[in-house]
Amino acid sequence: MQDYDLTLQHVLWRIEKLFRRKEVVTKREQGVHRISYGDLVPRINQLAGALKRLGVKPGDRVATLAWNNWRHLELYYAIPCMGAVLHTLNLRLFPKDLEFVIKDADDTILFVDRTLVPILNQLAGKLPSVKQIVLMTDGEPAPENQLGKMLDYEALLKAESPEFAWPVLEERNAAAMCYTSGTTGNPKGVVYSHRSQFIHTMGVLQVDNLALSERDVVFPIVPMFHANSWGLPYACGMVGSKVIFPDRFMGDAKSVVELARDEEATILAGVPTIWTTTAAYLKETGIRLPKVHTVICGGSAIPRALMVAMDEVGLRMLHAWGMTETSPLGSTARVRSWVPPEEELEKRLTQGLVVPGVEIRIADPASGVELPWDGVAFGEIQVRGSWIASGYYNGYDPGKLTDDGWFRTGDVAKIDPDGHILIVDRTKDVIKSGGEWISSVDLENAIMGHPKVLEAAVIGLPHPKWDERPVAFVVARPEFKGKVSEDEIKDFLKDKVAKWWLPDEVRFIDEVPKTSVGKFDKKVLRGNAAAIATTAEAPAKG
Ligand code: AMP
Repeated sequence: MQDYDLTLQHVLWRIEKLFRRKEVVTKREQGVHRISYGDLVPRINQLAGALKRLGVKPGDRVATLAWNNWRHLELYYAIPCMGAVLHTLNLRLFPKDLEFVIKDADDTILFVDRTLVPILNQLAGKLPSVKQIVLMTDGEPAPENQLGKMLDYEALLKAESPEFAWPVLEERNAAAMCYTSGTTGNPKGVVYSHRSQFIHTMGVLQVDNLALSERDVVFPIVPMFHANSWGLPYACGMVGSKVIFPDRFMGDAKSVVELARDEEATILAGVPTIWTTTAAYLKETGIRLPKVHTVICGGSAIPRALMVAMDEVGLRMLHAWGMTETSPLGSTARVRSWVPPEEELEKRLTQGLVVPGVEIRIADPASGVELPWDGVAFGEIQVRGSWIASGYYNGYDPGKLTDDGWFRTGDVAKIDPDGHILIVDRTKDVIKSGGEWISSVDLENAIMGHPKVLEAAVIGLPHPKWDERPVAFVVARPEFKGKVSEDEIKDFLKDKVAKWWLPDEVRFIDEVPKTSVGKFDKKVLRGNAAAIATTAEAPAKG
């Protein structure tokens, strides 16, 4: 067989040769911006020419601070295909973390969307590696800043030829990097190679996985800075799906729904928090999205109440699990042929089955002993495969690989005899009470099943007798604010969880703090939480 290098240049080649008429649509303040792949390709070539003229060399890191839009997609292709490394910056990081990752990656050129200049401006004078900032704008001037002279993206492109001679790349060259959202310590860089991105793309596309086709219209609401938007931009390019981008309008259910309806989206993708507001909006307005056949959802577990609410408004969720370190696709919850209809919901709520190309096992986090797939034992998920990280950039956290080379994910799960993964918790979030484990995720899910509850996060707080006991932080639905009591929540839980799992306290809050990628930020909750007020006996196990 030919020794053919698997690179992203192949995806670009397919776009140019096969999908010129397919569109990339981006939401704007008023209306949308439309461009065909046919018109995008010469711009990608011009961009590569501009990068070369700016002195970008193979292996250099080029950063983007941008929303999901067509220019970001151009950067997604031009940077890796000309041999440099695309570093997508998480625009929700704290300034000190953003400064850290830009320095750590040693980014040389930084592309910024006009509306994000204020974020970058907080780092003015603190980015020694960045030789040039390029402003992406539709002609409007940059807001006030101390960043010095910025080049104009469109002017740069205009000065270049629409043809570019792409260099020969090796598949193991770095193509892109993403930093983990880091709820503890500094963010850590994960470097994806061309090969890993190529194979991951093929994995994403499989029918039992995300199953994108040319006939699909894909709407990635998951940010392009979060694990490469789950690999969707390259997957869309490989098969020629039309893409819809939300730009900066990603948090608002009305614009998400209207864009999906107007552009006839068939696949939506985003984290659970987006769908909580979307389901409520659809219910309230009666609007439906009949063309949508799949809502890909991952990043945190889908609460049962959410999946049911989405089913009720005709949106079928596909649960997926993964992490920045796994490119990110690790598992998907497609229902298998033999599952009777009455068991489907249960199976869809699991994190599903490990995808072809990745191997999985669970192991006792302390002893490392592998645990059986019996649906009872739970331990840390360990994975290996061609799109799984072997370590972090600059050698951080070297203990993530086991002695025999498996990646330790830090997620705790059970696996049933049929292979369904059921994530119980993060190793650092699981609550240890009287020597027994309590799953904060299970408790949260149970509480979020209460009709008056919008969101709930559970953490373990120190307890003099039991080491730790669960405390629930609950956000009531707006119409029930101040009208739901601690006892009501505890009563509701009584027939749903073991007695010794009942939270010691239920505290009502206005909002659950979220991480930069929209997950519950338990570090913040822990940091702010007052100690458990009572030292009353927690009910013993059993
Ligand atoms: P990130 O690298 O920011 O994408 O975070 C990855 C982490 O998110 C995983 O290690 C899990 O803890 C969590 N996660 C992702 N998908 C799921 C899911 N479907 N269910 C539960 N947790 C998830």
